Amino acid sequence: MKEAEKEYDFIIVGSGIGGLVCATVLGMEGYSVLVLEKNHQIGGSLQVFSRDKRIFDTGVHYIGSLDEGENLHQIFRYLGIMDDLAMKRLDDECFDLIRFPDGSTYKHGQGYEAFKEGLFENFPNEKAAINAFCDKILEICAYFPLYNLQDESEVEKSYVTHPEVLALSAWDFIESITDDKRLQSVLLGSSLLYAGDRKTTPLYVVALIMNSFLSGSYRMLNGGSQIAKLLTRRIHSLGGRVLKHQDVVSADYVDKEIKSVVTTDGEKFSAKKFISNTHPKKTVEIFGEDRFRAAYRHRLDKINNTVSSFMVYLSFEEDFFPYLNYNLYAYGKEEVWETVDYKEGMWPEAMFICTSAAHDQGAYADAMSVMTYMDYSEVEEWSDSFNTVARSGERGAAYEQFKKEKEEIVLQRLEKIFPDIRKGVRGIYSSTPLTYKDYIGTEDGALYGILKDYNNIMLSKINARTRVPNLYQTGQNLVFHGILGSTISALVTCFNFMDSKYLIEKIKTA
Ligand SMILES: Cc1cc2nc3c(=O)[nH]c(=O)nc-3n(C[C@H](O)[C@H](O)[C@H](O)COP(=O)(O)OP(=O)(O)OC[C@H]3O[C@@H](n4cnc5c(N)ncnc54)[C@H](O)[C@@H]3O)c2cc1C
Repeated sequence: MKEAEKEYDFIIVGSGIGGLVCATVLGMEGYSVLVLEKNHQIGGSLQVFSRDKRIFDTGVHYIGSLDEGENLHQIFRYLGIMDDLAMKRLDDECFDLIRFPDGSTYKHGQGYEAFKEGLFENFPNEKAAINAFCDKILEICAYFPLYNLQDESEVEKSYVTHPEVLALSAWDFIESITDDKRLQSVLLGSSLLYAGDRKTTPLYVVALIMNSFLSGSYRMLNGGSQIAKLLTRRIHSLGGRVLKHQDVVSADYVDKEIKSVVTTDGEKFSAKKFISNTHPKKTVEIFGEDRFRAAYRHRLDKINNTVSSFMVYLSFEEDFFPYLNYNLYAYGKEEVWETVDYKEGMWPEAMFICTSAAHDQGAYADAMSVMTYMDYSEVEEWSDSFNTVARSGERGAAYEQFKKEKEEIVLQRLEKIFPDIRKGVRGIYSSTPLTYKDYIGTEDGALYGILKDYNNIMLSKINARTRVPNLYQTGQNLVFHGILGSTISALVTCFNFMDSKYLIEKIKTA
């Protein structure tokens, strides 16, 4: 039978980590699943690309919570992919290095003890503040049962019973524990991981992400796409399908329920239930505005997305640049939490720098990725263009020139940190917010989807259930972003189809 003639139990639109995890869990429970992906490559932000025979990650540079016994490790074990992951643990005494404009650097060690010890050395008089920071992270994380692989019913206090925990400002907390400006910036030094901004970032986002990266940070050897490949293999082995080049544009209904989704080629795929792994606005666009309440659509219009990014990718000559088994967060100003709203002429004020890790990783790196913030407005004049491998197009000479100029600025910034770096650069490549817009399908190339804002936490609340009885949502916009966040989101989505306690028990005992 042709795919289009079957009726699946579930069709999942989008093969990001959230969509793939949903498909695997449902497949393991005996449901028939079909994943439809518009791109040439599966994985959403897990996609990689290759230049000069080097592999570059596009949206996953390191992953936390992967030490034995940690939440993501255990979930990946349950999904059946943990033992096949090829990964490299970042350095214990320094997995993230925070650098300031005066050249001084501060280490973040892995695990709370190493993290604290490293900071105690630099800030001997601030032990109380450093302890308070770590204690608070742990205290906040305890409010999120699923994050700790517990069922909501098993805990006394959670963010559901105590929603006020979601509305705490990270910046207010940092200011309350220390007046030392440098320590404030060091504690929030890996802020590009969550686009930290003093005006909006909730404390819980910092807590869940910091705790995760302190609990086993790893680089994926030869790229994060291996996670998508392993999950796809698993889905296929369970009888499911993952199809590429399937851009879903609309849905057919019978009464109030979706019967099938329709792709740009006019092909129709039918299922009993549908899960959208796309941005909630895109979900509304695909499944029909009139199917959702006006109030919900207006709320989506009011929601801000996180800032986007400009990425620079360098390939190096052989045996030139040392492999760094840590990430470098380099700031052009002291106030790390004021770098999202960068000033023209000052860009880039924040850079995330990492060297790629290969299977046969030696002392030298063959490639480097540099992530900087970039507002979508900078590329808006080319927003009508579209260019992906699946649907190629031209953006024009002015756009290429824009990219070259930005690449040069980033290279000059890198030279301040690594004076000879230019001598060993074989190739330089870049991507802009338009790249993320086209590949991921968000309207402005948002780095981490919907912005969580402690001032109005309800505004960004997205449910797995929708008004359409057989349509559900998943992915980074549901719970929180990142590989861990989007995986947890997938579990939340799956709780609509199976008992939460049952699934959590299966994960814990995997
Ligand atoms: C530059 C960058 C760096 C990052 N670094 C890290 C990191 O180091 N560590 C970390 O843990 N996280 C990182 N993240 C975040 C992490 O990658 C994401 O939060 C996570 O991968 C999002 O997964 P998702 O399930 O929401 O799906 P997404 O990755 O958003 O994928 C959605 C999928 O849906 C598909 N789709 C959209 N519309 C349609 C349609 N109409 N039809 C069919 N398919 C469609 C898209 O093509 C895409 O494949 C980074 C993100 C970015 C952008």
